[in-house]
Amino acid sequence: PSPLGPTPKLVIDLERLQQLPKDKAGPLARYAATIQSQRGDYNGKVLSIRQEDLRSLAVIYDKSPAELTEELINWGILDAEARRAVESL
Ligand code: C2E
Ligand code: C2E
Ligand code: C2E
Repeated sequence: PSPLGPTPKLVIDLERLQQLPKDKAGPLARYAATIQSQRGDYNGKVLSIRQEDLRSLAVIYDKSPAELTEELINWGILDAEARRAVESL
């Protein structure tokens, strides 16, 4: 087990996501909206996503999971803790 504790969750800041320009955030916003719809989870300020979904999003953004995570941290959409969640991807 990691000395830093359990793997942190990937938690998307949905309010921040809405503030970003569509050309950047569009694909992620559509992906998040699909997950919300599948779960019936509409009223959250944040959305916990699967690690597998970050892998899929990285393909969509033509980046590695680690690169996409850095970008999402820069955009203020993911917490810096998320770095540890993608180390295993
Ligand atoms: P599913 O993958 O067959 O999951 C069925 C139900 O199992 C989910 O219903 C949820 O209650 C539970 N479940 C599955 N995995 C997890 C998990 O990692 N954590 C938690 N807390 N519960 C889990 P729910 O939420 O109504 O989702 C319905 C279907 O929507 C899911 O069926 C899946 O096909 C899709 N879905 C929902 N959220 C996600 C997501 O974050 N990523 C992806 N790729 N699909 C999702
Ligand atoms: P947590 O995972 O640290 O989440 C803290 C709060 O962030 C949640 O409080 C909720 O307000 C929000 N949040 C996180 N992910 C989502 C999301 O995907 N959708 C929405 N709408 N909100 C989200 P809440 O709901 O009172 O849950 C408190 C704690 O209970 C959670 O802390 C977690 O430890 C546990 N919990 C709640 N739902 C689940 C679940 O589906 N699976 C697991 N394993 N734990 C859960
Ligand atoms: P969580 O609910 O705390 O689940 C943590 C991890 O436990 C998940 O990481 C997954 O590896 C495993 N897990 C939990 N429930 C199930 C399940 O029903 N089936 C399977 N095969 N594995 C399960 P993961 O996939 O990275 O998901 C991270 C977080 O994203 C989950 O934390 C939960 O907050 C959210 N999530 C993922 N899928 C769903 C879903 O289908 N419905 C809902 N409501 N939340 C989901």
